[in-house]
Amino acid sequence: MMPAANVRATTAPPVGVAILGSTGSIGTSALRVLARQRDRYVPVALTANGNVAALAEQVATWLPAFAGLVQPHADAPAGWGVGADCLIAAATHPDAAIVINAVVGAAGLPATLAALRMGKRVALANKETLVVAGAIVTETARRHGGELVPVDSEHSAILQCLAGRQPHEVRRLVLTASGGPFRTWPADRIAAATVTDALRHPTWQMGSKITIDSATLANKALEVIEAHHLFGVPYDRIDVVVHPQSIIHSFVEFIDGSVLAQMGIPSMELPILYALTYPERVADSGVPSFDPVALGGLSFETVRYEDFPMLRLGIDAGRRGGAAPAVFNAANEVAVAHFLAGRLSFAGIAERVSAALTELAGVSGASLDDLLRADTAARDHVNAQVGC
Ligand code: MG
Repeated sequence: MMPAANVRATTAPPVGVAILGSTGSIGTSALRVLARQRDRYVPVALTANGNVAALAEQVATWLPAFAGLVQPHADAPAGWGVGADCLIAAATHPDAAIVINAVVGAAGLPATLAALRMGKRVALANKETLVVAGAIVTETARRHGGELVPVDSEHSAILQCLAGRQPHEVRRLVLTASGGPFRTWPADRIAAATVTDALRHPTWQMGSKITIDSATLANKALEVIEAHHLFGVPYDRIDVVVHPQSIIHSFVEFIDGSVLAQMGIPSMELPILYALTYPERVADSGVPSFDPVALGGLSFETVRYEDFPMLRLGIDAGRRGGAAPAVFNAANEVAVAHFLAGRLSFAGIAERVSAALTELAGVSGASLDDLLRADTAARDHVNAQVGC
């Protein structure tokens, strides 16, 4: 990550921002952030997956130069981009210096690569981009002078703790995990959890895919892989600790034993704003003043790896490298969709992902085409297993 002058003086024109996934949880938070920073930033391109009405309302409010809808819809106005290519059009829009990628899943990868190839800053909420093709994405950023700045709260915390430090000074990263809705449940009850149970996240309001990933702890596995690629830290120096209050967003331990943490109430607006202004800070984040007494207490617990098998499966896939992380991610995306549709039990998610990783263990991940083929093969494998 290279520092860049993304914070403009108020006399300069506002910096153009593209938001991919503007009607989702991160996208709507990002527009709230931009509404408070009108002197500095302006949305110039907005895309949604399929929510025509919500996108139309945003377009009427913000009048972006470009709007796009991934899923074709009869109600979409004639001037909008339509289909998956609209993500590329928004990401490469000449008016956009920063691209907030808040697409769900591996579908966000081509837009990240396209923006980085043009030397843009990508504020990355689409962690699957780095899970599927981390080495290729970071190399593309390096070669073309693009920047990857995390929006994910844990990685934003680590970035803030690392400010000004050298890589050799870092001993260990410790990602915090809320533990999800099943943190205190016994294993047999977790295995039979319903969709309603799994969508009841204790601390974060998010879209359904990431909420299920938080219940299985697959999300934390994706975040460990994301941290490995973003910060260049080996897997044996990235740990996870359960922290139910979600106040400390992660820790960095340095070689002298000193530990820095970044903390705040659970809100994505601060990490979104920091991804825009990094390495600077600006006022008006919307975050209320910090009150440590009101927090009550902070607690920490060991992760129950044996009861949440997706965490170990994902971290092991990351360590194995090659196509394994792409297979883990794609199998998980499809398994979660089947769980949400009532076609798979909660325990079935890990069973199907584990089977896909075994079945596709020999698949090559050397090139981007290899990784995309592995992604497709994993989706096909899980669909066939579930009988779709
Ligand atoms: Mg996170």
